[in-house]
Amino acid sequence: MLSTEIKTKIRALFPDAATDAAEDLLVYGFDATGQEKIPDMVVFPTNARQIADLMLLANEKRFPLVPRGAGSGFVGGSIPTHEGVVLNMTRMNRILKIDEANLTAEVEPGVVTAHLQREVERLGFFYPPDPASLKVSTIGGNVATGAGGPRAVKYGVTRDYVLGLEVVLPTGEIIRTGAATMKSVVGYDLTRLLVGSEGTLGVVTKILLKLLPKPKATRTALAMFPTVDAAANTVAAIIRARIIPRTLEFMDKSAVRAVEEYLHYGLPTDAGAILLLETDGTPEAAQSEMETICDICRQHEALDIQVARDEAEKEKLWTVRRSISPSILRIRPNKINEDVTVPRSRIPDLMKRLAELSAKVDLPIINFGHAGDGNIHVNVMTDKKNVEEYERAKKTIDQVFDICLKLDGTLSGEHGIGISKAPWIELEIGAVGVRLTRQLKAVFDPNNILNPGKIVPDESVVFNH
Ligand SMILES: Cc1cc2nc3c(=O)[nH]c(=O)nc-3n(C[C@H](O)[C@H](O)[C@H](O)COP(=O)(O)OP(=O)(O)OC[C@H]3O[C@@H](n4cnc5c(N)ncnc54)[C@H](O)[C@@H]3O)c2cc1C
Repeated sequence: MLSTEIKTKIRALFPDAATDAAEDLLVYGFDATGQEKIPDMVVFPTNARQIADLMLLANEKRFPLVPRGAGSGFVGGSIPTHEGVVLNMTRMNRILKIDEANLTAEVEPGVVTAHLQREVERLGFFYPPDPASLKVSTIGGNVATGAGGPRAVKYGVTRDYVLGLEVVLPTGEIIRTGAATMKSVVGYDLTRLLVGSEGTLGVVTKILLKLLPKPKATRTALAMFPTVDAAANTVAAIIRARIIPRTLEFMDKSAVRAVEEYLHYGLPTDAGAILLLETDGTPEAAQSEMETICDICRQHEALDIQVARDEAEKEKLWTVRRSISPSILRIRPNKINEDVTVPRSRIPDLMKRLAELSAKVDLPIINFGHAGDGNIHVNVMTDKKNVEEYERAKKTIDQVFDICLKLDGTLSGEHGIGISKAPWIELEIGAVGVRLTRQLKAVFDPNNILNPGKIVPDESVVFNH
Protein backbone atom coordinates (compact mmCIF):
# COMPACT_ATOMS: atom_id res chain seq x y z
CA MET A 1 0.00 0.00 0.00
CA LEU A 2 1.29 3.44 -0.88
CA SER A 3 1.35 5.95 1.97
CA THR A 4 -0.67 9.16 1.81
CA GLU A 5 2.60 11.08 1.62
CA ILE A 6 3.70 9.20 -1.52
CA LYS A 7 0.27 9.57 -3.13
CA THR A 8 0.38 13.33 -2.51
CA LYS A 9 3.79 13.52 -4.18
CA ILE A 10 2.52 11.52 -7.16
CA ARG A 11 -0.53 13.81 -7.49
CA ALA A 12 1.83 16.79 -7.59
CA LEU A 13 3.69 15.18 -10.52
CA PHE A 14 0.43 14.36 -12.35
CA PRO A 15 -2.04 17.19 -11.68
CA ASP A 16 -5.54 15.98 -12.71
CA ALA A 17 -3.95 12.83 -14.13
CA ALA A 18 -3.69 10.51 -11.13
CA THR A 19 -6.39 8.49 -9.41
CA ASP A 20 -6.79 6.04 -6.58
CA ALA A 21 -10.59 5.86 -6.76
CA ALA A 22 -11.64 2.21 -6.34
CA GLU A 23 -13.80 2.25 -9.48
CA ASP A 24 -10.86 3.56 -11.56
CA LEU A 25 -8.33 1.09 -10.14
CA LEU A 26 -10.59 -1.83 -11.04
CA VAL A 27 -10.22 -1.00 -14.74
CA TYR A 28 -6.41 -1.12 -14.77
CA GLY A 29 -5.68 -4.34 -12.92
CA PHE A 30 -6.26 -6.99 -15.59
CA ASP A 31 -5.32 -7.98 -19.13
CA ALA A 32 -6.55 -10.49 -21.72
CA THR A 33 -5.45 -13.44 -19.54
CA GLY A 34 -8.32 -12.56 -17.19
CA GLN A 35 -5.93 -12.41 -14.22
CA GLU A 36 -6.28 -9.45 -11.92
CA LYS A 37 -4.43 -7.46 -9.27
CA ILE A 38 -5.61 -4.04 -8.24
CA PRO A 39 -2.93 -1.29 -8.26
CA ASP A 40 -2.63 1.40 -5.56
CA MET A 41 -2.80 4.20 -8.06
CA VAL A 42 -3.04 4.91 -11.80
CA VAL A 43 -1.38 7.86 -13.54
CA PHE A 44 -1.85 9.13 -17.09
CA PRO A 45 1.48 10.63 -18.26
CA THR A 46 1.62 13.10 -21.11
CA ASN A 47 5.40 13.50 -21.37
CA ALA A 48 8.69 11.72 -20.65
CA ARG A 49 9.81 14.20 -17.96
CA GLN A 50 6.82 13.33 -15.76
CA ILE A 51 7.65 9.64 -16.03
CA ALA A 52 11.32 10.31 -15.22
CA ASP A 53 10.32 12.21 -12.07
CA LEU A 54 8.02 9.35 -11.07
CA MET A 55 10.90 6.88 -11.56
CA LEU A 56 13.10 8.97 -9.23
CA LEU A 57 10.36 8.98 -6.59
CA ALA A 58 9.81 5.23 -6.99
CA ASN A 59 13.54 4.60 -6.46
CA GLU A 60 13.60 6.81 -3.40
CA LYS A 61 10.49 5.29 -1.80
CA ARG A 62 10.81 1.83 -3.40
CA PHE A 63 7.43 1.19 -4.95
CA PRO A 64 6.72 -0.64 -8.25
CA LEU A 65 5.66 0.98 -11.52
CA VAL A 66 3.88 -0.91 -14.29
CA PRO A 67 3.55 0.49 -17.85
CA ARG A 68 0.27 -0.25 -19.59
CA GLY A 69 -1.06 0.28 -23.11
CA ALA A 70 -4.51 -1.11 -23.94
CA GLY A 71 -4.18 -4.09 -21.58
CA SER A 72 -4.75 -6.56 -24.44
CA GLY A 73 -1.64 -8.60 -23.60
CA PHE A 74 -1.95 -12.38 -23.32
CA VAL A 75 0.72 -13.05 -20.67
CA GLY A 76 -0.08 -10.77 -17.73
CA GLY A 77 2.68 -8.25 -18.61
CA SER A 78 0.65 -5.19 -17.64
CA ILE A 79 -0.84 -6.67 -14.47
CA PRO A 80 0.47 -4.90 -11.33
CA THR A 81 1.35 -8.17 -9.59
CA HIS A 82 3.17 -6.29 -6.82
CA GLU A 83 0.57 -3.47 -6.73
CA GLY A 84 2.11 0.03 -6.91
CA VAL A 85 1.42 2.52 -9.70
CA VAL A 86 0.15 1.74 -13.20
CA LEU A 87 1.29 4.13 -15.93
CA ASN A 88 -1.52 4.27 -18.42
CA MET A 89 0.19 5.44 -21.61
CA THR A 90 -2.93 6.04 -23.71
CA ARG A 91 -2.89 9.85 -23.38
CA MET A 92 0.46 9.96 -25.20
CA ASN A 93 -1.30 9.17 -28.45
CA ARG A 94 -0.06 11.58 -31.09
CA ILE A 95 1.38 10.72 -34.47
CA LEU A 96 4.19 13.27 -34.35
CA LYS A 97 5.45 13.08 -37.91
CA ILE A 98 5.07 11.08 -41.10
CA ASP A 99 8.23 11.70 -43.11
CA GLU A 100 7.38 11.04 -46.74
CA ALA A 101 10.94 11.54 -48.00
CA ASN A 102 12.48 9.05 -45.55
CA LEU A 103 9.51 6.67 -45.21
CA THR A 104 9.33 6.91 -41.42
CA ALA A 105 6.72 7.75 -38.80
CA GLU A 106 7.45 9.13 -35.34
CA VAL A 107 4.71 8.30 -32.85
CA GLU A 108 3.91 8.37 -29.17
CA PRO A 109 3.35 4.97 -27.53
CA GLY A 110 -0.40 5.33 -26.95
CA VAL A 111 -1.26 5.49 -30.66
CA VAL A 112 -3.65 2.65 -31.47
CA THR A 113 -2.13 0.32 -34.08
CA ALA A 114 -5.09 0.45 -36.51
CA HIS A 115 -5.15 4.26 -36.30
CA LEU A 116 -1.51 4.48 -37.39
CA GLN A 117 -2.15 2.02 -40.21
CA ARG A 118 -5.12 4.04 -41.48
CA GLU A 119 -3.24 7.33 -41.34
CA VAL A 120 -0.18 6.07 -43.23
CA GLU A 121 -2.31 4.22 -45.78
CA ARG A 122 -4.16 7.46 -46.57
CA LEU A 123 -0.79 8.76 -47.77
CA GLY A 124 0.03 5.63 -49.77
CA PHE A 125 2.32 4.07 -47.12
CA PHE A 126 2.14 0.76 -45.30
CA TYR A 127 2.89 -0.24 -41.68
CA PRO A 128 2.68 -4.05 -41.89
CA PRO A 129 2.63 -5.43 -38.29
CA ASP A 130 -0.99 -6.49 -37.76
CA PRO A 131 -1.73 -8.19 -34.43
CA ALA A 132 -5.35 -9.37 -34.43
CA SER A 133 -5.88 -6.92 -31.54
CA LEU A 134 -4.89 -3.94 -33.71
CA LYS A 135 -8.17 -2.07 -33.21
CA VAL A 136 -7.31 -1.67 -29.51
CA SER A 137 -3.62 -2.44 -28.98
CA THR A 138 -1.13 0.44 -28.77
CA ILE A 139 2.12 0.82 -30.67
CA GLY A 140 3.90 1.09 -27.27
CA GLY A 141 2.42 -2.27 -26.25
CA ASN A 142 3.34 -3.74 -29.65
CA VAL A 143 6.93 -2.55 -29.23
CA ALA A 144 7.14 -3.84 -25.65
CA THR A 145 5.86 -7.29 -26.67
CA GLY A 146 7.43 -7.47 -30.14
CA ALA A 147 3.96 -8.10 -31.55
CA GLY A 148 3.39 -9.94 -34.82
CA GLY A 149 0.40 -10.92 -36.91
CA PRO A 150 -0.68 -12.72 -40.09
CA ARG A 151 1.47 -10.50 -42.32
CA ALA A 152 4.67 -11.46 -40.42
CA VAL A 153 5.33 -14.32 -42.85
CA LYS A 154 6.15 -11.79 -45.59
CA TYR A 155 6.82 -8.54 -43.76
CA GLY A 156 8.20 -9.48 -40.35
CA VAL A 157 7.11 -8.32 -36.89
CA THR A 158 7.14 -5.03 -34.95
CA ARG A 159 10.86 -5.44 -34.16
CA ASP A 160 11.66 -5.21 -37.89
CA TYR A 161 10.07 -1.74 -38.14
CA VAL A 162 11.51 0.02 -35.08
CA LEU A 163 14.40 2.29 -36.06
CA GLY A 164 14.72 4.11 -32.77
CA LEU A 165 13.16 4.79 -29.39
CA GLU A 166 12.94 7.40 -26.70
CA VAL A 167 12.88 5.58 -23.38
CA VAL A 168 12.69 6.62 -19.74
CA LEU A 169 14.98 4.27 -17.85
CA PRO A 170 14.07 3.02 -14.38
CA THR A 171 16.88 5.25 -13.04
CA GLY A 172 15.00 8.32 -14.29
CA GLU A 173 17.39 8.99 -17.20
CA ILE A 174 15.87 9.62 -20.63
CA ILE A 175 17.71 8.05 -23.58
CA ARG A 176 17.31 7.88 -27.33
CA THR A 177 18.34 4.67 -29.07
CA GLY A 178 18.84 3.86 -32.74
CA ALA A 179 18.96 6.41 -35.55
CA ALA A 180 16.70 7.98 -38.16
CA THR A 181 18.61 6.10 -40.84
CA MET A 182 17.92 2.73 -42.45
CA LYS A 183 21.23 1.43 -41.12
CA SER A 184 23.32 2.15 -38.04
CA VAL A 185 25.85 0.01 -36.19
CA VAL A 186 26.94 2.22 -33.32
CA GLY A 187 27.57 0.07 -30.27
CA TYR A 188 25.24 -2.53 -28.83
CA ASP A 189 21.78 -2.59 -30.39
CA LEU A 190 19.81 -1.20 -27.46
CA THR A 191 16.74 -0.72 -29.64
CA ARG A 192 16.43 -4.44 -30.33
CA LEU A 193 17.05 -5.22 -26.67
CA LEU A 194 14.27 -2.89 -25.57
CA VAL A 195 11.80 -4.17 -28.17
CA GLY A 196 10.16 -7.20 -26.57
CA SER A 197 11.42 -6.34 -23.08
CA GLU A 198 7.80 -6.18 -21.86
CA GLY A 199 8.11 -2.92 -19.95
CA THR A 200 10.82 -4.28 -17.62
CA LEU A 201 13.81 -2.21 -18.84
CA GLY A 202 12.23 1.17 -19.57
CA VAL A 203 9.08 3.05 -20.48
CA VAL A 204 8.89 3.79 -24.19
CA THR A 205 7.82 7.39 -24.82
CA LYS A 206 8.55 7.88 -28.55
CA ILE A 207 8.98 5.42 -31.40
CA LEU A 208 10.51 5.96 -34.82
CA LEU A 209 9.03 3.43 -37.26
CA LYS A 210 9.99 2.39 -40.75
CA LEU A 211 7.21 2.51 -43.38
CA LEU A 212 6.87 0.80 -46.76
CA PRO A 213 5.02 1.85 -49.89
CA LYS A 214 1.50 0.43 -49.77
CA PRO A 215 1.09 -2.60 -52.08
CA LYS A 216 -1.28 -1.70 -54.90
CA ALA A 217 -3.36 -4.88 -54.84
CA THR A 218 -4.17 -7.95 -52.76
CA ARG A 219 -5.77 -11.29 -53.66
CA THR A 220 -7.34 -13.56 -51.05
CA ALA A 221 -8.32 -17.24 -51.11
CA LEU A 222 -9.61 -19.91 -48.75
CA ALA A 223 -8.51 -23.49 -49.50
CA MET A 224 -9.88 -26.60 -47.80
CA PHE A 225 -7.79 -29.79 -47.46
CA PRO A 226 -8.64 -33.36 -46.44
CA THR A 227 -5.73 -33.62 -44.00
CA VAL A 228 -3.29 -31.46 -42.05
CA ASP A 229 -0.46 -33.09 -43.98
CA ALA A 230 -1.98 -32.00 -47.32
CA ALA A 231 -2.25 -28.42 -46.04
CA ALA A 232 1.29 -28.51 -44.61
CA ASN A 233 2.71 -29.92 -47.85
CA THR A 234 0.94 -27.11 -49.70
CA VAL A 235 2.63 -24.53 -47.47
CA ALA A 236 6.03 -26.09 -48.15
CA ALA A 237 5.34 -26.25 -51.91
CA ILE A 238 4.28 -22.58 -52.03
CA ILE A 239 7.52 -21.52 -50.36
CA ARG A 240 9.51 -23.85 -52.65
CA ALA A 241 7.84 -22.10 -55.61
CA ARG A 242 9.61 -18.91 -54.36
CA ILE A 243 6.36 -17.29 -53.26
CA ILE A 244 6.06 -15.67 -49.84
CA PRO A 245 2.35 -14.91 -49.44
CA ARG A 246 1.27 -11.80 -47.52
CA THR A 247 -0.60 -14.13 -45.15
CA LEU A 248 -0.77 -17.89 -44.78
CA GLU A 249 -3.18 -18.73 -42.00
CA PHE A 250 -4.08 -22.21 -40.79
CA MET A 251 -7.06 -23.80 -38.99
CA ASP A 252 -7.15 -27.42 -37.85
CA LYS A 253 -10.11 -29.79 -38.11
CA SER A 254 -11.62 -28.85 -34.73
CA ALA A 255 -11.32 -25.15 -35.49
CA VAL A 256 -13.07 -25.69 -38.86
CA ARG A 257 -15.93 -27.55 -37.20
CA ALA A 258 -16.29 -25.00 -34.42
CA VAL A 259 -16.41 -22.10 -36.91
CA GLU A 260 -18.95 -23.89 -39.11
CA GLU A 261 -21.24 -24.58 -36.15
CA TYR A 262 -20.96 -20.91 -35.15
CA LEU A 263 -21.08 -19.22 -38.56
CA HIS A 264 -23.00 -21.67 -40.80
CA TYR A 265 -20.73 -20.55 -43.62
CA GLY A 266 -20.77 -23.81 -45.54
CA LEU A 267 -17.28 -25.03 -44.64
CA PRO A 268 -16.81 -28.78 -45.22
CA THR A 269 -16.91 -30.25 -41.71
CA ASP A 270 -14.89 -33.25 -42.91
CA ALA A 271 -11.98 -30.94 -43.89
CA GLY A 272 -8.75 -31.79 -42.05
CA ALA A 273 -7.44 -28.23 -42.34
CA ILE A 274 -8.07 -24.88 -44.01
CA LEU A 275 -5.59 -22.31 -45.29
CA LEU A 276 -6.38 -18.62 -45.74
CA LEU A 277 -3.95 -17.25 -48.29
CA GLU A 278 -3.27 -13.72 -49.43
CA THR A 279 -0.88 -12.28 -52.02
CA ASP A 280 -0.04 -8.64 -52.67
CA GLY A 281 2.02 -6.35 -54.91
CA THR A 282 1.12 -4.90 -58.28
CA PRO A 283 -2.27 -6.15 -59.54
CA GLU A 284 -0.47 -8.41 -62.05
CA ALA A 285 1.96 -9.85 -59.45
CA ALA A 286 -0.75 -10.44 -56.84
CA GLN A 287 -2.93 -12.16 -59.47
CA SER A 288 -0.17 -14.28 -60.95
CA GLU A 289 1.09 -15.44 -57.52
CA MET A 290 -2.48 -16.31 -56.50
CA GLU A 291 -2.94 -18.38 -59.69
CA THR A 292 0.26 -20.31 -58.93
CA ILE A 293 -0.89 -20.82 -55.33
CA CYS A 294 -4.26 -22.17 -56.50
CA ASP A 295 -2.46 -24.61 -58.86
CA ILE A 296 -0.30 -25.79 -55.96
CA CYS A 297 -3.38 -26.24 -53.75
CA ARG A 298 -5.04 -28.38 -56.45
CA GLN A 299 -1.89 -30.49 -56.81
CA HIS A 300 -2.09 -31.14 -53.04
CA GLU A 301 -5.63 -32.55 -52.88
CA ALA A 302 -7.48 -29.29 -52.10
CA LEU A 303 -11.17 -30.15 -51.67
CA ASP A 304 -12.27 -26.64 -52.58
CA ILE A 305 -10.67 -23.23 -53.24
CA GLN A 306 -12.59 -19.98 -52.97
CA VAL A 307 -10.91 -16.87 -54.40
CA ALA A 308 -12.43 -13.51 -53.44
CA ARG A 309 -13.57 -11.47 -56.45
CA ASP A 310 -13.99 -8.18 -54.59
CA GLU A 311 -13.55 -6.51 -51.18
CA ALA A 312 -16.88 -7.83 -49.88
CA GLU A 313 -15.91 -11.43 -50.69
CA LYS A 314 -12.46 -10.88 -49.19
CA GLU A 315 -14.09 -9.69 -45.94
CA LYS A 316 -16.33 -12.78 -45.98
CA LEU A 317 -13.30 -15.09 -46.25
CA TRP A 318 -11.56 -13.25 -43.41
CA THR A 319 -14.70 -13.64 -41.28
CA VAL A 320 -13.95 -17.37 -41.18
CA ARG A 321 -10.52 -16.69 -39.65
CA ARG A 322 -11.77 -13.98 -37.30
CA SER A 323 -14.57 -16.17 -35.98
CA ILE A 324 -12.28 -18.84 -34.55
CA SER A 325 -11.85 -17.28 -31.10
CA PRO A 326 -15.56 -16.72 -30.32
CA SER A 327 -16.60 -20.06 -31.87
CA ILE A 328 -14.21 -22.29 -29.94
CA LEU A 329 -15.51 -20.92 -26.63
CA ARG A 330 -18.74 -22.81 -27.40
CA ILE A 331 -16.76 -26.04 -26.96
CA ARG A 332 -15.65 -25.06 -23.44
CA PRO A 333 -16.07 -21.67 -21.74
CA ASN A 334 -12.32 -21.23 -21.10
CA LYS A 335 -9.12 -21.77 -23.03
CA ILE A 336 -5.45 -21.79 -22.16
CA ASN A 337 -3.93 -20.25 -25.25
CA GLU A 338 -0.23 -20.65 -26.00
CA ASP A 339 1.43 -19.19 -29.10
CA VAL A 340 4.17 -21.77 -29.58
CA THR A 341 6.18 -21.62 -32.79
CA VAL A 342 8.03 -24.37 -34.65
CA PRO A 343 10.01 -24.36 -37.90
CA ARG A 344 7.28 -24.47 -40.56
CA SER A 345 8.38 -27.91 -41.79
CA ARG A 346 7.62 -29.32 -38.30
CA ILE A 347 3.95 -28.23 -38.29
CA PRO A 348 2.66 -31.73 -39.28
CA ASP A 349 4.69 -33.28 -36.41
CA LEU A 350 3.34 -30.65 -34.01
CA MET A 351 -0.26 -31.35 -35.08
CA LYS A 352 0.21 -35.12 -34.78
CA ARG A 353 1.67 -34.87 -31.28
CA LEU A 354 -0.98 -32.40 -30.12
CA ALA A 355 -3.70 -34.78 -31.35
CA GLU A 356 -2.07 -37.60 -29.33
CA LEU A 357 -1.81 -35.31 -26.30
CA SER A 358 -5.46 -34.28 -26.61
CA ALA A 359 -6.52 -37.96 -26.54
CA LYS A 360 -4.16 -38.73 -23.62
CA VAL A 361 -5.35 -35.89 -21.37
CA ASP A 362 -8.95 -36.18 -22.59
CA LEU A 363 -9.31 -32.48 -23.36
CA PRO A 364 -10.07 -30.73 -26.65
CA ILE A 365 -6.96 -29.01 -28.06
CA ILE A 366 -7.79 -26.64 -30.90
CA ASN A 367 -5.07 -25.24 -33.13
CA PHE A 368 -4.95 -22.38 -35.57
CA GLY A 369 -2.56 -19.60 -36.47
CA HIS A 370 0.15 -18.45 -38.77
CA ALA A 371 1.27 -21.52 -40.76
CA GLY A 372 3.55 -19.34 -42.87
CA ASP A 373 5.89 -18.74 -39.94
CA GLY A 374 5.12 -21.84 -37.86
CA ASN A 375 3.36 -19.82 -35.12
CA ILE A 376 0.44 -21.97 -34.01
CA HIS A 377 -2.04 -20.90 -31.35
CA VAL A 378 -2.60 -24.00 -29.26
CA ASN A 379 -5.82 -23.77 -27.25
CA VAL A 380 -6.34 -26.25 -24.45
CA MET A 381 -10.09 -26.00 -23.86
CA THR A 382 -11.44 -26.25 -20.32
CA ASP A 383 -14.03 -25.08 -17.84
CA LYS A 384 -12.57 -23.20 -14.91
CA LYS A 385 -15.60 -24.11 -12.78
CA ASN A 386 -14.62 -27.77 -13.10
CA VAL A 387 -11.65 -27.70 -10.73
CA GLU A 388 -10.28 -31.13 -11.62
CA GLU A 389 -10.48 -30.45 -15.35
CA TYR A 390 -8.94 -27.00 -15.05
CA GLU A 391 -5.97 -28.41 -13.11
CA ARG A 392 -5.58 -31.10 -15.78
CA ALA A 393 -5.64 -28.40 -18.48
CA LYS A 394 -2.94 -26.37 -16.71
CA LYS A 395 -0.73 -29.44 -16.38
CA THR A 396 -1.21 -30.14 -20.10
CA ILE A 397 0.71 -26.93 -20.88
CA ASP A 398 3.95 -28.54 -19.59
CA GLN A 399 3.54 -31.18 -22.26
CA VAL A 400 2.65 -28.67 -24.99
CA PHE A 401 5.90 -26.79 -24.29
CA ASP A 402 7.88 -30.02 -24.12
CA ILE A 403 6.57 -31.07 -27.55
CA CYS A 404 7.30 -27.65 -29.01
CA LEU A 405 10.90 -27.48 -27.73
CA LYS A 406 11.61 -31.05 -28.91
CA LEU A 407 10.57 -29.88 -32.39
CA ASP A 408 13.19 -27.06 -32.24
CA GLY A 409 10.45 -24.55 -31.51
CA THR A 410 10.07 -21.58 -29.19
CA LEU A 411 7.65 -21.00 -26.30
CA SER A 412 6.27 -17.76 -27.71
CA GLY A 413 6.19 -16.43 -31.25
CA GLU A 414 4.50 -13.13 -30.42
CA HIS A 415 2.77 -12.85 -27.03
CA GLY A 416 5.90 -12.80 -24.87
CA ILE A 417 6.58 -14.29 -21.45
CA GLY A 418 5.09 -11.92 -18.83
CA ILE A 419 4.08 -13.92 -15.78
CA SER A 420 2.21 -16.67 -17.63
CA LYS A 421 5.26 -18.32 -19.20
CA ALA A 422 7.95 -17.21 -16.74
CA PRO A 423 8.01 -20.63 -14.99
CA TRP A 424 9.09 -22.27 -18.27
CA ILE A 425 11.57 -19.73 -19.65
CA GLU A 426 14.64 -21.61 -18.38
CA LEU A 427 13.63 -24.65 -20.45
CA GLU A 428 14.31 -22.61 -23.56
CA ILE A 429 17.07 -20.13 -22.68
CA GLY A 430 18.86 -22.24 -20.05
CA ALA A 431 20.23 -21.35 -16.61
CA VAL A 432 22.93 -19.10 -18.06
CA GLY A 433 20.33 -17.30 -20.18
CA VAL A 434 18.21 -16.70 -17.08
CA ARG A 435 21.24 -15.45 -15.14
CA LEU A 436 22.17 -13.00 -17.91
CA THR A 437 18.56 -11.83 -18.14
CA ARG A 438 18.50 -11.10 -14.40
CA GLN A 439 21.88 -9.32 -14.62
CA LEU A 440 20.69 -7.18 -17.54
CA LYS A 441 17.55 -6.27 -15.61
CA ALA A 442 19.68 -5.21 -12.62
CA VAL A 443 21.88 -3.01 -14.84
CA PHE A 444 18.84 -1.13 -16.13
CA ASP A 445 16.83 -1.26 -12.91
CA PRO A 446 19.05 -1.70 -9.83
CA ASN A 447 16.12 -1.36 -7.40
CA ASN A 448 13.74 -3.58 -9.39
CA ILE A 449 11.02 -0.93 -9.44
CA LEU A 450 9.87 -1.33 -13.06
CA ASN A 451 7.39 -4.12 -13.76
CA PRO A 452 8.93 -6.55 -11.24
CA GLY A 453 8.27 -10.28 -11.50
CA LYS A 454 7.87 -10.35 -15.28
CA ILE A 455 9.85 -12.50 -17.78
CA VAL A 456 12.11 -14.24 -15.24
CA PRO A 457 10.44 -16.27 -12.51
CA ASP A 458 9.66 -14.52 -9.25
CA GLU A 459 8.66 -16.81 -6.40
CA SER A 460 6.41 -14.14 -4.94
CA VAL A 461 4.22 -14.19 -8.06
CA VAL A 462 1.59 -16.90 -7.92
CA PHE A 463 1.10 -18.47 -11.35
CA ASN A 464 -2.59 -18.60 -12.11
CA HIS A 465 -3.67 -18.72 -15.76
C1 LIG B 1 -8.17 -10.77 -29.31
C2 LIG B 1 -6.68 -10.61 -29.19
C3 LIG B 1 -5.90 -10.90 -30.29
C4 LIG B 1 -4.51 -10.76 -30.23
N1 LIG B 1 -3.76 -11.03 -31.33
C5 LIG B 1 -2.43 -10.86 -31.29
C6 LIG B 1 -1.64 -11.11 -32.47
O1 LIG B 1 -2.15 -11.47 -33.53
N2 LIG B 1 -0.31 -10.92 -32.37
C7 LIG B 1 0.27 -10.50 -31.21
O2 LIG B 1 1.49 -10.32 -31.19
N3 LIG B 1 -0.44 -10.29 -30.09
C8 LIG B 1 -1.78 -10.43 -30.10
N4 LIG B 1 -2.52 -10.20 -28.97
C9 LIG B 1 -1.83 -9.82 -27.72
C10 LIG B 1 -1.70 -8.28 -27.49
O3 LIG B 1 -2.71 -7.56 -28.19
C11 LIG B 1 -0.33 -7.78 -27.90
O4 LIG B 1 0.63 -8.33 -27.02
C12 LIG B 1 -0.19 -6.25 -27.89
O5 LIG B 1 1.08 -5.89 -28.39
C13 LIG B 1 -0.37 -5.62 -26.52
O6 LIG B 1 -0.57 -4.22 -26.69
P1 LIG B 1 -1.26 -3.36 -25.53
O7 LIG B 1 -1.22 -1.93 -25.95
O8 LIG B 1 -2.59 -3.91 -25.22
O9 LIG B 1 -0.25 -3.58 -24.33
P2 LIG B 1 -0.53 -4.06 -22.83
O10 LIG B 1 -1.26 -5.34 -22.81
O11 LIG B 1 -1.12 -2.93 -22.07
O12 LIG B 1 0.96 -4.30 -22.34
C14 LIG B 1 1.72 -5.34 -22.85
C15 LIG B 1 3.15 -5.24 -22.29
O13 LIG B 1 3.77 -4.06 -22.78
C16 LIG B 1 4.21 -3.22 -21.71
N5 LIG B 1 4.01 -1.84 -22.17
C17 LIG B 1 2.89 -1.27 -22.67
N6 LIG B 1 3.14 -0.01 -23.05
C18 LIG B 1 4.46 0.24 -22.79
C19 LIG B 1 5.32 1.36 -22.95
N7 LIG B 1 4.90 2.51 -23.49
N8 LIG B 1 6.61 1.24 -22.56
C20 LIG B 1 7.07 0.08 -22.04
N9 LIG B 1 6.30 -1.00 -21.85
C21 LIG B 1 5.01 -0.93 -22.23
C22 LIG B 1 3.35 -3.64 -20.52
O14 LIG B 1 4.02 -3.38 -19.29
C23 LIG B 1 3.19 -5.13 -20.77
O15 LIG B 1 4.32 -5.84 -20.32
C24 LIG B 1 -3.90 -10.34 -29.00
C25 LIG B 1 -4.70 -10.04 -27.91
C26 LIG B 1 -6.08 -10.18 -27.99
C27 LIG B 1 -6.89 -9.85 -26.79
